[in-house]
Amino acid sequence: MVVKKIPMRKCAGCDCMKEKKELIRIVHTPEDEFIVDFSGKKSGRGVYLCHSKACLETARKKKSLDRSLKCTLPDTVYEALAKQLEQEGRDE
Ligand SMILES: [Zn+2]
Repeated sequence: MVVKKIPMRKCAGCDCMKEKKELIRIVHTPEDEFIVDFSGKKSGRGVYLCHSKACLETARKKKSLDRSLKCTLPDTVYEALAKQLEQEGRDE
């Protein structure tokens, strides 16, 4: 049996494993910036989230993004993410 290797990452909100390309990556760069990384290629410590506002809210409540990034994510980043998800309009 051949198992195809698909890079899987865990959503910080719902704890589901999903394909990397199905998730949003938030990166804390070595320059101490927070970037919503759509290319998935930025260097730095990253966390992943579903394209879902529910997951964003859950992650915010649980502070799981802060925990994964080992620092406090600024409100502006949450706002930027919420805005982005609104534009995508594919909340589940
Ligand atoms: Zn999720």
